[in-house]
Amino acid sequence: FPVENIRNFSIVAHVDHGKSTLADRLLELTGTIDKTKNNKQVLDKLQVERERGITVKAQTASLFYNCEGKQYLLNLIDTPGHVDFSYEVSRSLSACQGVLLVVDANEGIQAQTVANFFLAFEAQLSVIPVINKIDLKNADPERVENQIEKVFDIPSDECIKISAKLGTNVESVLQAIIERIPPPKVHRKNPLRALVFDSTFDQYRGVIANVALFDGVVSKGDKIVSAHTQKTYEVNEVGVLNPNEQPTHKLYAGQVGYLIAGMKDVTEAQIGDTLCLHKQPVEPLPGFKSAKPMVFAGMYPLDQSEYNNLKSAIEKLTLNDSSVTVHRDSSLALGAGWRLGFLGLLHMEVFNQRLEQEYNASVILTTPTVPYKAVLSSSKLIKARRAVQKNMIFIDQNRVMLKYLFPLNEIVVDFYDSLKSLSSGYASFDYEDAGYQTAELVKMDILLNGNTVEELVTVVHKDKAHSIGKAICERLKDSLPRQLFEIAIQAAIGSKIIARETVKAYRKNVLAKCYGGDITRKMKLLKRQAEGKKKLRKIGNVEVPKDAFIKVLKTQ
Ligand code: GDP
Ligand code: MG
Repeated sequence: FPVENIRNFSIVAHVDHGKSTLADRLLELTGTIDKTKNNKQVLDKLQVERERGITVKAQTASLFYNCEGKQYLLNLIDTPGHVDFSYEVSRSLSACQGVLLVVDANEGIQAQTVANFFLAFEAQLSVIPVINKIDLKNADPERVENQIEKVFDIPSDECIKISAKLGTNVESVLQAIIERIPPPKVHRKNPLRALVFDSTFDQYRGVIANVALFDGVVSKGDKIVSAHTQKTYEVNEVGVLNPNEQPTHKLYAGQVGYLIAGMKDVTEAQIGDTLCLHKQPVEPLPGFKSAKPMVFAGMYPLDQSEYNNLKSAIEKLTLNDSSVTVHRDSSLALGAGWRLGFLGLLHMEVFNQRLEQEYNASVILTTPTVPYKAVLSSSKLIKARRAVQKNMIFIDQNRVMLKYLFPLNEIVVDFYDSLKSLSSGYASFDYEDAGYQTAELVKMDILLNGNTVEELVTVVHKDKAHSIGKAICERLKDSLPRQLFEIAIQAAIGSKIIARETVKAYRKNVLAKCYGGDITRKMKLLKRQAEGKKKLRKIGNVEVPKDAFIKVLKTQ
């Protein structure tokens, strides 16, 4: 396939502006999939994507398109729109020369529209603005054109107005891809240089690497080397994604496809790796900046006997989602587990759901926290942190873009929901890391009859300590069984008690239920009670069932 007839592009946009629907139409128009009424976001293959109606993984598809007697190969990458998955977007862009920037004709430019535009702009890609959903009653494509000109400095006559749902004007998107996006700059005569930009683990075939070829050719039977591990493999299969895997004889520079080479271990073919021929080593491609986790949570198997299975499931899933960081951790209450870092709360939920659905794992996930850096000093310091306004840009008469500096902890949990309800759904939100700031944080202990419960020690903002402490005490009260004596549940900062709940004393006579003298039944009950005790932890004189920890630590 001549390089000048290849176009590699991504579809980027704010959530729900219609990327995956546009991808459906492009697949249909090029005859890649049959045109039926049922093509709804066909590239959203994961169960979690179909259930939530969002894209979380970038997906690749190769399309053939005939135009003025020439056949073109278009490699499309559909990307997620939510801020938590922008790492997927930036990786996808490394395999592209252009993007379709989709903007909803009704909603106009939103937070992730801006974020994605700048990702493409910084990568020096051609940007084709596509105004979608012009069929909607309240659509105002002219207003959106003006926003695009004002915010991105793209002349408004470059915008293509379409309805991805109805298929209106989608053909001109294909035209623009051919005219405005340059073919990849590659050298087929040079030795092979392939970038692994995504990777999945298949139980039977091992690692399936998605590759973009920058130089050379690769065929079945070639001996290749990973720049990352220096291990040598024989290529078993190469092919294109159509959108399902379709084997081909060779892959040439400029193409995007997949490669299977008997890598059986998840540490092989990591995302960002460069593959080259065994006899012709090359300088590796730059790879990717590692993602920076924003939210941390503990993950434990529901039962410790499941530890090894869960470990292997986490390893396989992190091969496919390299933005998750994993460190071993353990907790007195929950046993051996891991501390995982995620890019946001949605990312954490999706990862958890994928573990359950794709790997059949059941896990306990603890309440998420954000990273703090502790500086020890004699006085605790510093003024209260509040959001600080940084700048304000009017996009048009109706929309304004505000920039604020926030403590991460304040936005991670429920900020997005509050913002949406306050603005009746009109506001959108994006964030990036602004570094560490000093803050007035305190260490909060939870005490049972005066003894610290180590698994519940947390770091919280001084102003929030009271409400958080109270909530934990209440949750613990609800999940602690009554015992022979009264139990005081307290939240404390240093020696100062800030919240308290009490569990009243109760004499639990398990045998009371056994009327008459059925001795075997009594024995059974006593045995069951003893087994229950094994799952208890004693803190001072208070027995805490494992369940109670799980209820308090688990995310709601
Ligand atoms: P994505 O998050 O950007 O991938 O958006 P989707 O493609 O999943 O679409 C989000 C929603 O918008 C879905 O309910 C689509 O049916 C709807 N949608 C997409 N394109 C259009 C369009 O041109 N017109 C209308 N009315 N709805 C659309
Ligand atoms: Mg989508």
